[in-house]
Amino acid sequence: MDYQPRAVIVGAGPNGLTAAARLAMAGWSVDIYERADWAGGAAASSAEIFPGTIVDLGAAGHPFGVASPAFRALDLESHGLRWLNAPYPMAHPLEGAPAGILQGSLADTAAELGADARAWTRLHGHIVRHIDEHVGNA
Ligand SMILES: Cc1cc2nc3c(=O)[nH]c(=O)nc-3n(C[C@H](O)[C@H](O)[C@H](O)COP(=O)(O)OP(=O)(O)OC[C@H]3O[C@@H](n4cnc5c(N)ncnc54)[C@H](O)[C@@H]3O)c2cc1C
Repeated sequence: MDYQPRAVIVGAGPNGLTAAARLAMAGWSVDIYERADWAGGAAASSAEIFPGTIVDLGAAGHPFGVASPAFRALDLESHGLRWLNAPYPMAHPLEGAPAGILQGSLADTAAELGADARAWTRLHGHIVRHIDEHVGNA
């Protein structure tokens, strides 16, 4: 009889689930133990808090998810995953001043930042232009 390696994973958060899926794809037998009644850990969502609305219980934005080599290897799209992009991915309210808004492009975000536009572009420009190198897909 062939030997099948076995893994026990504690916690069904994104890291535990990703590890479990990768191991299972490699032929391991995997058991996951989760203390909550649902999977997802700090990235879980609930439709029960406000009926008709899905509320993220922790993590809400996953800008690197679509580029993640670990997620790509799982081919989640073929299991029904759809990545959604909001027109404004993030906003930060400021007291007595207009909110800081993250737009869909580096240039559009910088255009609203006044004196900080140059610093923003310098800080984020390289990763935006070379995202595949940063996440190891190049
Ligand atoms: C409020 C908040 C907002 C966040 N926002 C973002 C965001 O916008 N974007 C982003 O990318 N990241 C965000 N994060 C971070 C992201 O949620 C975590 O990086 C990610 O969830 C970590 O995954 P994990 O699997 O390592 O751990 P977790 O998601 O914490 O999962 C651990 C799991 O293990 C279970 N567990 C723990 N101990 C035991 C035990 N003894 N027995 C059985 N089960 C156990 C827990 O119940 C849980 O389900 C946020 C986190 C929080 C808390």
